[in-house]
Amino acid sequence: MADQMNEKLLERDTITMPVIDKHYQMIGTKKATEIIDRAMNLAREEIPKGAVATYIPELSKMDPHQLGICLYPLKGDKICMGDYDVRFTMQSVSKVVMLIVALEVCGLKPVFRKVGMEPSGEAFDSLVELDVSDSKPYNPLINSGALAVCGLLLPEVSFQDMLRYTRNICSDPGIELNEEVFDSEMKTCSRNRSIAYLLQSKGIITTDVEDTLRFYTKMCSMNVTAESLANLGKKLANDGVCNLDGKRFMSSRTARIVKTLMLTCGMYDGSGTFAIKVGIPTKSGVGGGLLSVSDKRAGIGVFGPALDAQGNSIAGCKLLREISNELRLNLFYDPEWNKEETDDTVLKEMAAKSVM
Ligand code: GLN
Repeated sequence: MADQMNEKLLERDTITMPVIDKHYQMIGTKKATEIIDRAMNLAREEIPKGAVATYIPELSKMDPHQLGICLYPLKGDKICMGDYDVRFTMQSVSKVVMLIVALEVCGLKPVFRKVGMEPSGEAFDSLVELDVSDSKPYNPLINSGALAVCGLLLPEVSFQDMLRYTRNICSDPGIELNEEVFDSEMKTCSRNRSIAYLLQSKGIITTDVEDTLRFYTKMCSMNVTAESLANLGKKLANDGVCNLDGKRFMSSRTARIVKTLMLTCGMYDGSGTFAIKVGIPTKSGVGGGLLSVSDKRAGIGVFGPALDAQGNSIAGCKLLREISNELRLNLFYDPEWNKEETDDTVLKEMAAKSVM
């Protein structure tokens, strides 16, 4: 019976999907669910090592023990577990939406005249690079870069436009501005305010600084769920197109640029390590959200508000690492290479010695 099921799934995939999805389907929803369930338990063990963000007072009220995931394959059943439908603020995950809209509305050159394309190796709210004359923010996925992008967006689109686009791309009409988190951050955002004024002094922000700061902070304060992030991730995984109705949300080029930056810069100064350990382009936020794109395979949304030292969800990262290995979601994995059992003794030894 199980074999028959697999054959049926396989048959369907051969017609519509590239090879890589066929492999994913071969694992089957039931097996994938078991794998994710096991990974959730392992990930929960990490929670006590992390802490919720406190620099935005309202975020300190979050329950650190929450953990949820939604994995939405391009072909196959959506798998939701734990606190996948709990609302939390998007925070820096919204930098992905800002970047998509800026590339679409303002164009590639104007965006990259304001911000670079390099990983910063610094904390998300760093302003070190800005103290050097003729420098610009390292990339659009850190605070300084996103503030510069907001300055570019502000004359073109309103927050309401951005909210509408976010609801559509996340297939979630329930996304709202979390007023409490917004007010709370506006009262304590002197660091972002300093960054924004520095950017103005360098001629990078030419719009009203306070308006730009409010626009940026509103974007960070949109209430999403792990499921909404999975919906967004699925569109990025499918070249910017919704696989259900064929609607395009961004150009192919924009999708490619955004995914590349997510891989190289999405986890701040933890980006390189995360790319090696997990290998799935991901963007984090201090609300505990993780948006992951397993290209051509699945969109993944994770929620786990206890954060590590870099401000990334500690249990969420562990969860992604486990499922990446087990479900073969790594960007550089090709199912063709797994015909024989891989010998991962060396990797296991390294993990035991905490090298990995
Ligand atoms: N709103 C937060 C800030 O600007 C977002 C930071 C984050 O999620 N890393 O500090």
